Amino acid sequence: MKKIAIYGKGGIGKSTTVSNVSAAMAAMGMTVLQIGCDPKADSTRNLTGGKNIPTVLDTLRENGDAELEDLVVKSSTGVLCVESGGPVPGIGCAGRGIITAFEKLEELEAYEIYKPDVVLYDVLGDVVCGGFAMPIRGGYADEVCIVTSGEMMSLYAATNISYAVKSFGKRGYASLRGLILNAKNIEGENELVDKAATEIETRVIYRLPRDPFVQQAEAQGKTVVEAFPDSDMAMHYKALAKLLMEGGKCLE
Ligand code: ADP
Ligand code: SF4
Ligand code: MG
Repeated sequence: MKKIAIYGKGGIGKSTTVSNVSAAMAAMGMTVLQIGCDPKADSTRNLTGGKNIPTVLDTLRENGDAELEDLVVKSSTGVLCVESGGPVPGIGCAGRGIITAFEKLEELEAYEIYKPDVVLYDVLGDVVCGGFAMPIRGGYADEVCIVTSGEMMSLYAATNISYAVKSFGKRGYASLRGLILNAKNIEGENELVDKAATEIETRVIYRLPRDPFVQQAEAQGKTVVEAFPDSDMAMHYKALAKLLMEGGKCLE
């Protein structure tokens, strides 16, 4: 079982990228578990017809004895979808919610029952506090990729996340695989992201173009892989999925 965490600033395109990669991996015949770790709880939306599924935290708040089927939704593409959810706004710790969801999935033996080939965590990384760093520091993810554009704020978040991965990496936890450039088409974008990669001693593992098919698929509540399987953008997501599964060297 391969466990990959995809971090990045809010709005940068994590959920779009992760759900397309999940759909592509499922189409390759793999059992995929996608876990949204963002209080926005919309990570798996494009896999489930544009509707948000109930979150683990909300479900547990109503019923502490919830079963696995109440927490995991199988999408039409075959991806097993989970949303950790968030605390009541203003009260409680969002990171703690992620931990609660992870612990519940373990307690209910989700990994033994579903036997996923790959687990993809979609994690908000604007602030890498202790809570949101859980997939890295708790030994949940083996590899971390960071989605960024050439915009300064997303590169700033990428730098912070990379420091967090490196500090925990020394203890044998997840290692940084590299950056995924999700283009915003700003001037000199490739060079800006290359420069940041060099500064944080990593590399750009994939460059995703900006493509209007992403919005068109989203409007249908679908991934590009599902809605426009023969498009160039679908090919990109499939290539990224293949690359992530192949592994490759993680830089320390
Ligand atoms: P995050 O999960 O990081 O908060 P989302 O995946 O929800 O971000 O993406 C934010 C918006 O950006 C979405 O509305 C999506 O349609 C758009 N988007 C993401 N990636 C691309 C892309 N490669 N081309 C065009 N639009 C994109
Ligand atoms: Fe907020 Fe993170 Fe602190 Fe939790 S650990 S209260 S999410 S800053
Ligand atoms: Mg998201």
